[in-house]
Parts: sequence; structure tokens; C-alpha cells
Amino acid sequence: MAEHRRPSWDDYFLQMAKLAASRATCPRRRVGAVLVRDHRVLATGYNGSVKGGPHCDDVGCLIVEQNGRPSCIRTVHAELNAILQCAVNGISSADSTLYCTDFPCTGCAKALVQAGVREVVFLSEYPDANSGIILRDGGIALFKAIPGDGEDTYRLVQVDIRGAKTQKA
Ligand SMILES: [Zn+2]
Ligand SMILES: [Zn+2]
Repeated sequence: MAEHRRPSWDDYFLQMAKLAASRATCPRRRVGAVLVRDHRVLATGYNGSVKGGPHCDDVGCLIVEQNGRPSCIRTVHAELNAILQCAVNGISSADSTLYCTDFPCTGCAKALVQAGVREVVFLSEYPDANSGIILRDGGIALFKAIPGDGEDTYRLVQVDIRGAKTQKA
């Protein structure tokens, strides 16, 4: 029998984020997020329709052009859903860490800063250059999870976001 390998906290929560992503309802991107403080799960989220709304998987996406590229606007994003679950349940999200499968978009980045999230650990990049600047300016430390030697193991590399803090109109 193979020796049991106990996952690290980071590997454990990244696996949970991937599991949450499997519940997503938009075929364009399936994202999962887990909000954690002191090694305890506060909330989880995945991108899905509003309560009672039809799923993209069933009726197709609701596409509009955003930032010059087509985006599906039907779903509430995973990161925002995790924060909103805290709000519904009356749980503070202050000083928490978010583990997510994809780097947050600009809208989620703003919500994460306002919700008091301190760290974001992500697996995949997301094509949104501005969200990193918002997260950095909001004091959130960013860590990319790089695949490690073993299956489902990762090592975290801190990401340094560059770019102008402010831009005059
Ligand atoms: Zn969709
Ligand atoms: Zn988002």
C-alpha cells in the first residue's frame, strides 16, 4: 500500500478551489475559490448564475463585449460568491486568504480589497492587466501556485505587480 502523503495547507486549499470550480455553470470558464483564515474555511464559491437564474450550461452564455473582448456576464464570479456567502452568513472576511483557480478580474479585485482579504493564492493567470494593480494598491499579497514535484503539490511564488499606481487623465 502506498504511503499516505498528507497535503500541505496550501495544497489542501488549492485542491478545494479546484473542486469548487467543478460546480461552475458557465462553459467559458470554470472558476473556484476558497476563503480561509487561520487554516479554517470561511466560505467557498464558484462562478454561477444568480439564485433562480438559468445556467449557461443549459441556455447558453450571455455575451457582451467588455474591455474589447467578448465576456459572459450571466454569472456571479467565484471570488465574489465566496465574499457574499460570508455576508449572508454574518462571517467576517477580514484578514483572510483567498485560494482561487484563476487570477481575479478587476471587479472581484475591488471586492476582495474592500472585504479585507490580505492574500490571494491563484493557479492560472487571467487576461486582465488592471486587476493586479488594484489588488497590489489594496495591499493584497499575490502568490502564484506553481506545480511541484508530486501530484497535486504546489510551491508558492510571490508575484510582484508592476505598473503605474496612478495615471493622470
Ligand atoms: Zn456563461
Ligand atoms: Zn471576477
